[in-house]
Amino acid sequence: MDTTNASIERVWSVLEAVPDPEIPVVSIRELGILRDVRHGDDGVLEVVITPTYSGCPAMSQIAEDIAQAIDDAGLGAHRIETVLAPAWTTDWITDEAREKLRRYGIAPPTGACGSIPDTSTKPIRFVPYKREAIACPRCGSTHTERLAQFGSTACKALYRCVDCREPFDYFKPY
Ligand SMILES: [Zn+2]
Repeated sequence: MDTTNASIERVWSVLEAVPDPEIPVVSIRELGILRDVRHGDDGVLEVVITPTYSGCPAMSQIAEDIAQAIDDAGLGAHRIETVLAPAWTTDWITDEAREKLRRYGIAPPTGACGSIPDTSTKPIRFVPYKREAIACPRCGSTHTERLAQFGSTACKALYRCVDCREPFDYFKPY
């Protein structure tokens, strides 16, 4: 088995095409779920992923999609390592993916969550009382209101634009 860097790059390029099961316009790499591709001490390919919200049921689907993509590309044996620390944060979502979310009709998370460099302990995140105005992904208006804490999934809140009257999902910062 080829264990050069070139093969690692090939795995990255294959996995870059794996979409998020819940939001298929963005890839697992763009969302920051796909953390690393490497060879283990025994030479077996390791794919490192970090789950998004622990409540999201999509992780087993993501693992299956990764396995399928690797098999389809004939990349051989692999294993998936799930790494929980540092915990996933919406800060890891790329700018390009944020734009894709907006075009898809999901308001991307606003602001940063303040990633804490020290990852030895799980930080407690304080949610500010005052919420930022969330821009409507369709018309850009910030004249929006929250209808429900949870939207189509626990990761999102349901909002409605007061100007264009359209409801939309807001990807909550985390
Ligand atoms: Zn609107």
